[in-house]
Amino acid sequence: MNVNDSEKMRHILENKGFVYGTEEKDADIIIINSCAVREKPQDKIFSYAGRMSREKIIIVAGCVAQSEKEKILKRNPNIDYIVGTHQYYYIDEIVEEIVSRRRSGVKAGFTRKWQESVPDIASRTSLVSGYISIMEGCNNFCSYCIVPFTRGREKHRPFDKIMEEARYLKSKGYKEIILLGQNVNNWEDLEKNMKFPALLDEMANEIDVKWIRFITSYPGYYDDDLIRIMATHPKIARNIHFPAQSGSTRILKKMNRIYSRSQYLDIIKKFKKNVPGISFSSDFIVGYPGETDYDFKLTLSLLEQVEYENIFSFIYSPRKHTKAFKMDDNIKMEVKKDRLYKVQELQESIQLKNNRACIGHTLEVLVTGRNPRKKDEMIGRTESYRVVNFPSKTPVGDFTFVKIDHVGPHSLRGSEVIP
Ligand code: SF4
Repeated sequence: MNVNDSEKMRHILENKGFVYGTEEKDADIIIINSCAVREKPQDKIFSYAGRMSREKIIIVAGCVAQSEKEKILKRNPNIDYIVGTHQYYYIDEIVEEIVSRRRSGVKAGFTRKWQESVPDIASRTSLVSGYISIMEGCNNFCSYCIVPFTRGREKHRPFDKIMEEARYLKSKGYKEIILLGQNVNNWEDLEKNMKFPALLDEMANEIDVKWIRFITSYPGYYDDDLIRIMATHPKIARNIHFPAQSGSTRILKKMNRIYSRSQYLDIIKKFKKNVPGISFSSDFIVGYPGETDYDFKLTLSLLEQVEYENIFSFIYSPRKHTKAFKMDDNIKMEVKKDRLYKVQELQESIQLKNNRACIGHTLEVLVTGRNPRKKDEMIGRTESYRVVNFPSKTPVGDFTFVKIDHVGPHSLRGSEVIP
């Protein structure tokens, strides 16, 4: 989502004649688009901005800008403007204003108004995956999460606007569309009386791309229709990011997640039964306040039961404003680190086992880039989002087939099969 927001800012500024820089040292204006989900990246912003030359115009945008205005103002005299999560639609006016009042003090701007903004092709980072923001914000208030405070309550983009952007991306040659939002499966268009599965259905019927993906789905908003639509349309990639966060119902309750372990597993079971070949990825937090050894074992056993394709795992990071911030963060750091290590070690062994099962098989791959370490090799992604390396001259953005002969826990390797 941050990448997509950056593309929108780039688009707005390029329309005003600014040129996107590839080298930081050559840039006159630096926009730091920040994420506040964890503490460490947030702290990096302060040191990064502090290192910048005072000759440059420095703007901090995004979630940290929204939630840490006072801290930024206090610690960084270098910064010219703090741009809240929805204020970036005015980035051109902000830059003009800074230029005209150069060095007369820091200013900040915040709004909750969401606007239509579709970055054109020149402003997009990926020429392979076309990102479409369909909703933003969150009403769930999971106890540990800062997103509802930084992005505000849910706002859903109208169906017609989403389809318009999808048609635009298709016309520009994108082979894959990725629908974005904090809770994509809670999207709805009230005027049209449409829910998320209907959006997927319409898009898969009309837009002629190879794969449609969506991220992130909240397990609490699960809907049988989603399974039905995914089972119907081969264009909807059979891969879902479905963050469990913990395998313990007791911890899920403390996290204010509205599903239990058994409900989560029931949904996974239904998907596996009705959508053959479907794979899952997830996020996990370890060391959440009050997490016992037994709770943690339940997380490990969830990993074993679901056999995720991939996970993102983190040590609990207390975030100001959230409910969990006031909880007793009672788990020693060495225990948290050990749990993180164990989760990652188990997941690696699951991935290795799953990847080994691909040896000898030919997989369809979307070529996403050149291997920076091996000039004659390309990198691609399978439908289930596995990384594949293979010697090839097939251009980025094309589909090809690769016969897998070597695997590791994080990627596959093989030779291209030209039909
Ligand atoms: S669902 Fe929970 S974790 Fe996800 S953005 Fe909303 S509050 Fe945060």
